[in-house]
Amino acid sequence: MLPLFSICSFRSTRATSVNQPSRSQRRNTTTETNHSTVKSEGLPEVDMAMARPSRFALVLHGGAGVIPPDSLPPPTREKYVVALKEALLAGYTVLNEGGTSLDATEAAVRVMEDCPLFNAGKGAVFSRDGKNMCEASIMDGRTMKAGATTLLTTVKNPISLARVIKDTTPHVFIAAPEAEKLAAESGLEIVDPSYFFTEHRWKQHLEQPADSPAISESAPAHYKDQLPSYSEKDADPYPQGTVGACALDTHGDLAAATSTGGKTNKWTYRIGDTPLISCGTYAENRYAAVSGTGNGEFFIRYAVAYDIVAQMKYGTNVSLAKAADKTIHETMKNAGGEGGVVAVDAHGRVALPFNTTGMYRGFIKEDGVPHVAIFHGEWY
Ligand code: ASP
Repeated sequence: MLPLFSICSFRSTRATSVNQPSRSQRRNTTTETNHSTVKSEGLPEVDMAMARPSRFALVLHGGAGVIPPDSLPPPTREKYVVALKEALLAGYTVLNEGGTSLDATEAAVRVMEDCPLFNAGKGAVFSRDGKNMCEASIMDGRTMKAGATTLLTTVKNPISLARVIKDTTPHVFIAAPEAEKLAAESGLEIVDPSYFFTEHRWKQHLEQPADSPAISESAPAHYKDQLPSYSEKDADPYPQGTVGACALDTHGDLAAATSTGGKTNKWTYRIGDTPLISCGTYAENRYAAVSGTGNGEFFIRYAVAYDIVAQMKYGTNVSLAKAADKTIHETMKNAGGEGGVVAVDAHGRVALPFNTTGMYRGFIKEDGVPHVAIFHGEWY
């Protein structure tokens, strides 16, 4: 069983559902390991749970990327599983009490922002100049209003600033420094930039060549000549860790929220897909809410989050699962774009496709059973 130690700030009031599997979980074929209960069999049951309609639902990710299984020894894997379940339960608590999908996604994302495991808030990666610059966005599928922010170095929870921008300004997208002024005026927690320092991210910053595709593609010719050649695959072996959540609430409203530190050794003022509505985040009540993670340049070029909804909108009877698979496994894969999305439709059905070796991910529906996975075919 999972020993429920918390490495993030959220303390679940429903923590027992992490420790004690429900009756349906117990019916599942399970493999007891020394660190967790792994449902390596019974995948059809998880598939059915994804496809099952639900009055409310929350789906989330903690980043997709090249995650070599041996880079995650059981104790580390367990930390991720616990953290993802905490985030799921934070969102579940809101939805189960009749709260809104906006509040639920914000709550789930805040848990992951406060957790150093993820590349958002506290665990944000470093830019090539050694800065942590965070960005986030949130969208309300009922009103189609959205808030987004970027270049943040002092706001503890960027997702809450995105929410403030949506709720209190006439704009969608406001960058620092003005956005940071708004955060302070709105009473959001402001921290010293050193708050974002974590040793594992610093090591990744030092280990990694500074010639990411983004740098080489946009560098002036004279500068480009000085850069060693790169392979897109090698350029950013640590893209994973961005966080996001999508939810359907009991009022029938959808929301999506995404938060990130970007890519390791990105250009310091590089802006990725995460704060761009339609690319990293999108929600529209009749169709779906989508949050993405992966190589942001591709998510921008292919308007990934909206691409999924557009298939449902303009196609005939296109399901969320089919649309999301097509975008991630065909369009993105053929383009060489690595990543994945989590999404929920207007009936509470969820989809979590990714074309990388792993994606930290999970979902929870009205039965309150959290489902969490990292690699293909292994659910906790
Ligand atoms: N999409 C993010 C970015 O490119 C990175 C990630 O999802 O890991 O900024």
